[in-house]
Amino acid sequence: MNKKILMIPGPVEVSPAVTEAFSVAPPSHLAPQVLEAFGASLEMMRQVWRASADSQPFILAGSGTLFMDSAAANLVAPGDTVVVVETGYFSQRTAEILRRLQARVIIVEAAPGQVPSREELTLALERGGDVRAVFATHVDTSTGVRVDPAVITAVAEAHGALTVFDGVCATGAEDFAMEALGADVYYTGSQKALGLPAGLALAVVSPRALARRRQLPHPPPIYVDWESWLPIMHAYEARKPSYFATPATNHILALEVGLREILDDTLNGLHGVEARWARHQRVATALRAAWSLLGLQLISHASCTARTLSAIRYPEGRDATLVSAIGERGVVVAGGLYPTLKDTYFRVGHMGYATTQSPMLEQTVRAVGEALFGEGASQTEAALQALAQGL
Ligand SMILES: *Cc1c(COP(=O)(O)O)cnc(C)c1O
Repeated sequence: MNKKILMIPGPVEVSPAVTEAFSVAPPSHLAPQVLEAFGASLEMMRQVWRASADSQPFILAGSGTLFMDSAAANLVAPGDTVVVVETGYFSQRTAEILRRLQARVIIVEAAPGQVPSREELTLALERGGDVRAVFATHVDTSTGVRVDPAVITAVAEAHGALTVFDGVCATGAEDFAMEALGADVYYTGSQKALGLPAGLALAVVSPRALARRRQLPHPPPIYVDWESWLPIMHAYEARKPSYFATPATNHILALEVGLREILDDTLNGLHGVEARWARHQRVATALRAAWSLLGLQLISHASCTARTLSAIRYPEGRDATLVSAIGERGVVVAGGLYPTLKDTYFRVGHMGYATTQSPMLEQTVRAVGEALFGEGASQTEAALQALAQGL
């Protein structure tokens, strides 16, 4: 392995088959193989999202933030009350998007590394009155914190509010069965938990949420408007050509391969996305054991730590130079991102293809160990052993 491996919380390493599917001369958006890849991807999204047959998948060219804008703009009108579950940098972005739509935004906060309680959320909805929707970040990539979607959907349901989950750092890796949860929007970007190249914004939307869009007093900007895209998604699912705005054709070819890899995964008698969820959990647990033997601690509370990344406190006397020392050992990791804490921790992403590749995980643990202790330290050997046992 000569090239550095990418172990940041997105973009992540992708499989050779995904790279191969992506690396072709750009096809037309009307080419038969694009119609097939697009249609199959929409169908597979319902399976990966564990969403109902009457839910609507969307695939747009753009980064994850595009669907943050899209979800908000299709559900929220000026003056609507919304609740944001604030767990870090990306929920702060959600709140800013909603403020720009002139919504009345109620924030339910928690200390960094923690999530708000069910009681705090309930109180916010009770005080909020007629709450249109609750927005939450499934995994906040700045702190490595994961909310419990079932708590949020239960509280929102009891108050007649829709639920929107940002799954950019979670979809395909963290348990999320959209239909069983009764969630209304679950969106992601291609380059994180889904394990694909950057460039697509993907979401599944419930019939309830689509109905809300049709009741909006003013339509949203045309590119983010679900109504602009519905006929296109229907056409592609029927493998028929259609045009509203040009899709990212190479990405669509890669997406089909990537989604199929997820649905073909098997682990301990599990199959499909459930195997993929379990795989991410197993890798996260094994890495956590390794971090612990390296004397490292996470900034996220154990009760709400995500399985897609580790947000690791710099040990006493170390700082951001550790990130470059790890990079010199062939592994790219990321610095902190939470505004007030970013100089106190670094982040290692462990999602997508890398979770199927023990050598990449070993190289990551070795690079962190050597950056901390130099070559051949007993801590690193112990950490590597713990990793191997856990995988
Ligand atoms: C990365 C990220 C985003 C933004 O996605 P982009 O693709 O960078 O626009 C939003 N939410 C979460 C949780 C993320 O991790």
